[in-house]
Amino acid sequence: MAVSKPRPTTTDGGAPVGSDEHSLSVGPDGPIVLHDHYLIEQMANFNRERIPERQPHAKGGGAFGHFEVTDDVSAYTRAEVFQPGTKTDTLVRFSTVAGERGSPDTWRDPRGFSVKFYTSAGNYDLVGNNTPVFFIKDPMKFQHFIRSQKRRQDSNLRDHDMQWDFWTLSPESAHQVTWLMGDRGIPKTWRHMNGYGSHTYGWINEAGEKFWVKYHFISDQGIECFTQHEGDQMAAADTDFHTRDLFQSIKAGEFPSWTLSVQVMPFEDAKTYRINPFDLTKVWPHADYPLIRVGRMTLDRNPVDYHTEIEQAAFEPNNLVPGIGLSPDKMLLARGFSYSDAHRARLGVNYKQIPVNAPVVEVNSYSKDGAMRIRNATDPVYAPNSYGGPQADPSRTDDAGFWHSDGDMVRSAYRSREADDDFSQPGTLVREVLDDAARERLVDNIVGHLLNGVSEPVLARAFEYWRNVDKELGDSIESGVRAKRDEPDPKAAEQGNPARSSMQSKI
Ligand code: NDP
Repeated sequence: MAVSKPRPTTTDGGAPVGSDEHSLSVGPDGPIVLHDHYLIEQMANFNRERIPERQPHAKGGGAFGHFEVTDDVSAYTRAEVFQPGTKTDTLVRFSTVAGERGSPDTWRDPRGFSVKFYTSAGNYDLVGNNTPVFFIKDPMKFQHFIRSQKRRQDSNLRDHDMQWDFWTLSPESAHQVTWLMGDRGIPKTWRHMNGYGSHTYGWINEAGEKFWVKYHFISDQGIECFTQHEGDQMAAADTDFHTRDLFQSIKAGEFPSWTLSVQVMPFEDAKTYRINPFDLTKVWPHADYPLIRVGRMTLDRNPVDYHTEIEQAAFEPNNLVPGIGLSPDKMLLARGFSYSDAHRARLGVNYKQIPVNAPVVEVNSYSKDGAMRIRNATDPVYAPNSYGGPQADPSRTDDAGFWHSDGDMVRSAYRSREADDDFSQPGTLVREVLDDAARERLVDNIVGHLLNGVSEPVLARAFEYWRNVDKELGDSIESGVRAKRDEPDPKAAEQGNPARSSMQSKI
């Protein structure tokens, strides 16, 4: 078999190097010299390989593919990406939320499900999760929520007491926590889970009519989940199980796909609908707003360079295109700032010039300079100008048109509506969607989680929290915890294990 001659190694400057294995020294046994530029370059590069990991959503993987519109939703949006027959290249990144970059893929956690559409009208990002709702509805609480999920300041350990303390003091979390503690809290693979835009977005059609929409990417592979035991086993056996599964499936030519459907609410309905449609802790029941199919997304290309294509991928909800806008969801509006700010902090001010983040269309912005700028800016560098610089065309955007509002400045919850309590929707999930076996697993998962270091007064609050979701569920959880807590721990007794004993006494 003919072996082709290897390409010569070069410095980052492109010049040939003398050796891949030996540094320059004074005689074979003498000291190495500082002017061995290639050695210095290799060491310096190595020291700078890591960039700050995402805070949160640090652990993830992704792939490229395309989105193809199969149905006609042009009555609701003029966005080119959703016009009949359109095919658009996409990038998707999946992730866990709380774990660090090396953490197990199969910890119980929501999963990020971020999609970038490289559209002919600029990049459109849908930065979603595998859950249709979220833990909180006001961005003031987001930082605190994430801190409660990460690590303690003293021991640097994750702490269930801290998690339940936050959740039980934030009853709006009940819907998402029910979801998380249920079967779907540990997907078997990323291919076997749905993705949701979660927030409500605005759509506007060619005639200027406005609608509110919720996005649902339904897995064509079906939903499959791990039990807590299976997830724990896999976390020990293969930390990167989800990452590996996606990469290997695509490599083997098994391309995962998702069918995108939307729920569409006429603009005026939002004012009177019994549920605040912008409350991120609520779904719109399908009976009120059925799913309308839009198209199919398929992933068929693995990254070649994980760092440049996935780790440096930057998704942000304010990458919007004509025909699509934000809504008055306070969480969504805050994400409009926080995502791009996080990218500036992590990747630098010119992160949109990194190829994976660059649009496929011409960029004519007035941004200039800054660290790591690679695209030339040209004169004139200001607007308005008399020298042929780009001019904004308001007819091509919808960024001012989605809602109207006035009122005094307040710090307040959303104005109350008929069905805005925190417990009805999780109660429906428990009573009407889950079957007996799924409810049993839900109880077991919650009991196991609470037994792992949750102490009074948080524990008593947790029982009440679940009784508010469903009286029978809360009672079963309390009796499950009390029964297990009162059992002597044979291993702790056998081994005199102080860690086990102190965990038990904390409960
Ligand atoms: P439906 O009966 O029309 O829908 C039930 C939904 O629950 C389906 O989307 C189903 O997904 C999903 N589901 C099934 N099993 C689980 C599980 N173990 N964990 C989480 N979700 C699951 O009822 P409604 O639209 O009236 O909603 C009832 C409840 O269902 C809601 O309160 C909410 O908790 C949950 N839900 C609702 C969604 C919505 O957008 N309306 C979306 C997801 C959940 P699938 O069809 O893929 O099996």
